[in-house]
Amino acid sequence: MDLSNMAAAVYLRKSRAEDGLSVEEVLSRHRETLGRYAAEHGIRIVETYPEVASGESLYARPKMLKLLEDVEAGNYDCVLCMDMDRLSRGSMREQGIVLEAFKASGTLIVTPEKVYDLADEADEEYAELKTFLSRREYKIINKRLRRGLQQSIADGCYVANAPYGYRRARTGRKPTLEIYEPEARFVRTMFELYAAGYGCVSVARQVNALGARPHRAREFSRNSVKKILDNPVYIGKVVWNQKSHIRKGTRGNGKHITVYNPKEKWLVVDGLHPAIVSRELWDKVQAVSEGRYCPSRNDGTVKSPLAGLILCENCGGHMQRLTFPKGGAYLICMRPGCCASAKYAFVEERVLGTLAEMLREMTMNLSGTKAERNTALETALKSVRAELAAAEQAKARLYDLVEAGAYSVTEFRERMDRAKARIAELERREEEARTALERAERWDIARQAAAIRTVLEEYPSRDVPGKNALLKSVISCVWYTKAKKTKPADFHLRVLLK
Ligand SMILES: [Zn+2]
Repeated sequence: MDLSNMAAAVYLRKSRAEDGLSVEEVLSRHRETLGRYAAEHGIRIVETYPEVASGESLYARPKMLKLLEDVEAGNYDCVLCMDMDRLSRGSMREQGIVLEAFKASGTLIVTPEKVYDLADEADEEYAELKTFLSRREYKIINKRLRRGLQQSIADGCYVANAPYGYRRARTGRKPTLEIYEPEARFVRTMFELYAAGYGCVSVARQVNALGARPHRAREFSRNSVKKILDNPVYIGKVVWNQKSHIRKGTRGNGKHITVYNPKEKWLVVDGLHPAIVSRELWDKVQAVSEGRYCPSRNDGTVKSPLAGLILCENCGGHMQRLTFPKGGAYLICMRPGCCASAKYAFVEERVLGTLAEMLREMTMNLSGTKAERNTALETALKSVRAELAAAEQAKARLYDLVEAGAYSVTEFRERMDRAKARIAELERREEEARTALERAERWDIARQAAAIRTVLEEYPSRDVPGKNALLKSVISCVWYTKAKKTKPADFHLRVLLK
């Protein structure tokens, strides 16, 4: 297996067999051995987790817990350790948790002797791993997990980040969650609104208006609301196996992504933390949800030739492809009330049409010198910079005007917000113009034209991930806009080439 350029974590731990030596001695020797192995195989070591504590249980091994959290987050391609034993000590159920984290995130376990890929069920090495645990033990782990060794699984979940509405806490020595009221009230509102018949888009809009802010995004979207409504954590349960990690380079994905598993695959058990919504409200929401059409979930397969390429010019977010039982596929901005959507097929056709047009222009311009072409780009960059300077001056003047009493504070805020938005947009355009020029200076137009020609020729014969890869080979992104209540084909695309 080619391990070159993989991002790796190193886990160091003294085993019982090495009792004669001090922890420091053992760890530094292992660090050296693994460092040498990494260098020989071109592996990049990103982080080292030296375990100084000597406990057998997972909770007596703080570095292991941190490592597991980072492995689950998909931070590494592989983890280097002296042998399998170092990772999977502890009780059987804890071994199950450790192995599951590696399996679900597709992280390899690399030992000087052998490389284990737990995500690849067909892998013979995986079979060997099962024997490592012995078939019987493995069965017991699985069975116990199914029956619900609640405590241990729950603890495992509490190690990760707290879901919206909760904060991490401890009861005694056990990690758990406590209700975080400033967020929890929005969770209750979401459930109540949905049970009252509002759709996810409308629920998102209403809680955003009330001031709710999710952890990792600017606003709630229909997807993030749906995830909250679907998550049994809010009735005091913990869910195991809710997410899968799709490794880079599989199913047509260019990078590592996380997807939600279908509910049938979840393992739901009682947790230690308090519920935010009542069982009654939860059941009502689930009943409403079952009766509604829900667009297909992302299972990590590239289903759209335009995946990852189209951005909303209005909000900068990624446009998504959604299919509806009637009317087929649409391209939609996930931010409620943002851009109008368009038929997917129209956008795909337009992207290809734009490429063809660009190719035609390039072929015509091939006669011009590089210097002539660059002059046009330089002029464009200069004019954006002039606009930007003017916008910044206008913004500075606002302070004088408000001091002079020309505006009320409300007016001032509105104008300031507008000025900031304008500057942000100009900064984006400046960056684009600058990179276009930089690119033009290194890039050979004839080669670019040839690349586009190949894309257009091969596109019809490729499957969906193949189409996506072709487009990504020449396009860096496409900005999309469409005003509300306009004709189906009245959208505008700005295709930026690589
Ligand atoms: Zn948008």
